[in-house]
Amino acid sequence: MKRAVCVLGATGSIGISTLDVLARHPERYRVIALTANRQVERLLQQCLTHQPRYAVMVEEEAAERLRQGLQQKGGATEVLSGVAGLEYVASLDEVDTVMAAIVGAAGLPPTLAAARHGKRVLLANKEALVMSGQLFMDEIREHGAELLPIDSEHNAIFQCMPGNFEQGLENVGVRRILLTASGGPFRNTPIEQLAAVTPEQAVAHPNWSMGRKISVDSATMMNKGLEVIEACWLFNTTPANIQVVLHPQSVIHSMVEYADGSVLAQLGNPDMRTPIAHALAWPERIDSGVSSLDIFSVARLDFEPPDLQRFPCLRLSMEAMEAGGTAPTILNAANEIAVEAFLHEQIGFTAIPRVIETTLERLPSNPADSLERIFADDRAARQVAAELVAGARLS
Ligand code: NAD
Ligand code: MG
Repeated sequence: MKRAVCVLGATGSIGISTLDVLARHPERYRVIALTANRQVERLLQQCLTHQPRYAVMVEEEAAERLRQGLQQKGGATEVLSGVAGLEYVASLDEVDTVMAAIVGAAGLPPTLAAARHGKRVLLANKEALVMSGQLFMDEIREHGAELLPIDSEHNAIFQCMPGNFEQGLENVGVRRILLTASGGPFRNTPIEQLAAVTPEQAVAHPNWSMGRKISVDSATMMNKGLEVIEACWLFNTTPANIQVVLHPQSVIHSMVEYADGSVLAQLGNPDMRTPIAHALAWPERIDSGVSSLDIFSVARLDFEPPDLQRFPCLRLSMEAMEAGGTAPTILNAANEIAVEAFLHEQIGFTAIPRVIETTLERLPSNPADSLERIFADDRAARQVAAELVAGARLS
């Protein structure tokens, strides 16, 4: 039987890669729904190519333009709007697989809806797990949903883990996780030059082509910090059992070390279609369109420990996870505001961790036991971070 897929965030970098893989296997997959924030033209083209039953634009005005475009071009897709539209398509009975590839906190409500309806959730949106890890994992278990990580490192870890890892890592002979990181474009930039780097320099990732927000997160290494938190929830462990490893070639996507000293790694070209195809077809394997790894031209693999002084966001993330409760929610929200301000040239690159640290100092962490509490702390953190940005006390 064909799998029926909903792609949340279809117009983004992960969404486009997902549609590329799906289109290679029309006999296995049907596209039921595609969603986007406001990129009407791109979603229109995607609707004409993939002919989903539903499309969702978050803004009603954009939804109306998409309806008109579809009418002119003879497309039969029904267009919905708003967060309710996102949740609706992620919950449809006819959908069995949901790609969660919306960027940021906005991805949480429809991703949770997919979990509550027992879907196979392909999780790219790491912010959902950072904001509400406990609640999210509880919903997955309670509703019998299947969670497969798309983030390349977590997908690699999943591939290297024993099948029964949910029994607890120490019970299944896993000693620790080695989470690899490229170190981003500023791994070797003299620290005193970091304050002056521009958004264009920050989004120019050496190995991966990604959306702008996650590219800045890679440059600050907040991305790795969010990934440590993500790994803690996915694999039921703590930051103490996760070693971040700088690996500039981005060929090893992460490793798992066992009690007997064995270290398993997953390697491949840095192309997100590999984890996407893995998670779509799991436990089978399908062609992703990714070329063979040319191990001879790779030739060497380097590893270094991360420098927490150069990358304070990594330290702040680990501290937030150790603090628990809504501290990771506050960290994530302050980061989203700071990154947006940096991309609009309102603050400098090195002000990003300062906005986050000050926000964390000003707001107490609360138990993350309800979505209301999580979103309340998310809003409070956004407000504090926005005031810090506006005050331009930080540059
Ligand atoms: P992107 O910016 O390229 O795309 C984001 C998508 O989300 C777009 O379709 C956009 O229309 C939609 N969107 C944005 N704001 C929205 C809102 N408020 N409401 C609804 N939809 C909204 O981002 P991306 O690089 O594809 O990343 C998507 C997610 O996957 C992020 O959480 C990122 O951390 C994660 N991720 C990405 C990569 C990668 O290689 N790009 C790797 C690992 C994890
Ligand atoms: Mg990653």
